[in-house]
Amino acid sequence: MLLTKGETTGGGLLVVMRQGATADEIRGVVTAVEARGFKAHPIPGAERTAIGITGNKGALEAPVFESLPGVVEVIPVSHAYKLVSREVKPDDTVVDVGGVKVGGLTLAVVAGPCAVESLEQMLIVARAVKKAGAHLLRGGAFKPRTSPYSFQGLGEEGLKILAAAREETGLPVVTEAVDLEALELIERYADAIQIGARNMQNFSLLKRAGKSRKPVVLKRGLSATLEEFLMSAEYILAEGNYQVILCERGVRTFSDFSRNTLDLAVVPAVKKISHLPILVDPSHGTGRRDKVAPLSRAAAAVGADGLMIEVHHDPDRALSDGPQSITPEMFEALVRDLKQIAPVLGRRL
Ligand code: PEP
Ligand code: MN
Repeated sequence: MLLTKGETTGGGLLVVMRQGATADEIRGVVTAVEARGFKAHPIPGAERTAIGITGNKGALEAPVFESLPGVVEVIPVSHAYKLVSREVKPDDTVVDVGGVKVGGLTLAVVAGPCAVESLEQMLIVARAVKKAGAHLLRGGAFKPRTSPYSFQGLGEEGLKILAAAREETGLPVVTEAVDLEALELIERYADAIQIGARNMQNFSLLKRAGKSRKPVVLKRGLSATLEEFLMSAEYILAEGNYQVILCERGVRTFSDFSRNTLDLAVVPAVKKISHLPILVDPSHGTGRRDKVAPLSRAAAAVGADGLMIEVHHDPDRALSDGPQSITPEMFEALVRDLKQIAPVLGRRL
């Protein structure tokens, strides 16, 4: 179902527990919600726990929950997106990817080639980005290519290579699931599941990612509005997976000097209405090697929680996205710049 402008999905409810509510009281609310056939989403906050309710038809049920022990108030949630919204969870979500925090004080840098091409290639790039200061390793084993004749990725073999690169460098791995079958393999080998721009509205894939225990990096669709982007994240949270990282990667416009137009304005827009962390991918966002560093610096300046950058040791011979891949040397210089920019924004690298 695609939401059209102004359409809503029926009012959700948010049950706010008192500060220091007991585990029993929280369980009591969850049981009462489930007994009515709705879904309960306990969301621990810095001060108190809130419980989001989805699957209900409106605010009619509010009084039922108001009288339960430990409940302070029941608030109708006005937006179409509920669980991703700051109304439901005022404080920022910090996602843990194999021990690396995304959305906290430290800017998270995800780097690596567009595609896993060979063990040798992956190890060269992984070692280089680790040395330069990356926190997470990227690399596609399943590639969503515009042409069926382009390199499609190494599949499971690529996942084994990524696991070997993690073993050697200690960098947790983020890699894309193009379909349900790939997702199940990725859950076994990787630390986070990437849902690509072309799959942002693949609702069965989103639902399956929502059932996973692994964090999800959700990339914005090529022509997705902010509302559509957040509703796709909502699909994942609604299934019980709250570990979602958004990623702005550029949208299609009339621009003729870049592959996509990196919509940096979406970063503060997301921050205003959602608690989820957001990365910026200036590689797909510009499609041009020389524009990756300036747009990375700008992304940090507008408040992105981190960056996803394509790096290749020999970009002109890369099997995928060479023109937008930067060299390890360029990456190292960029990390040096970001280290200087971060403190100005009250962050670190
Ligand atoms: C990628 O990260 O290599 C990729 C294919 O990204 P996107 O889905 O943003 O095009
Ligand atoms: Mn790519």
